[in-house]
Amino acid sequence: MRMKLIKRPERQKRCGTAVKEAIESFKDDHDILDLLSEHSDFKRVASTHGGEWEGMCPFEDCISDDNACRVWRERDGGAAWCRQCKRRGDSLRWSMMLEDRDPDEPGETSKYLREKGYLAKSLFAKGDDDDDE
Ligand SMILES: [Zn+2]
Repeated sequence: MRMKLIKRPERQKRCGTAVKEAIESFKDDHDILDLLSEHSDFKRVASTHGGEWEGMCPFEDCISDDNACRVWRERDGGAAWCRQCKRRGDSLRWSMMLEDRDPDEPGETSKYLREKGYLAKSLFAKGDDDDDE
């Protein structure tokens, strides 16, 4: 008996949406300040953008002083920037970097989200990685 081939033209689009949703729910679950505070101490220095904090960069390879790293809890859904090593991004990027993953490598973000359970494994077949953002 022959198997019928089912075409799925909407697949690509659906994957992109799923990745975006996964990124948003990861960011909802991971507060940027809580995340970085696990590695370094931050103190509140301003109340703009839902509060601004500064502290030492959480990366050991970064020779930073104790106010090089800035955290804005609500700007763009939470962001941090280190003026010493220039690492920057939202809680997803920092989370990946802290686990020694490269958020700029194609497919790496969706792979990471999949490992963390934010993205259904079945959404992606082999070689079908979405390097969206
Ligand atoms: Zn740094």
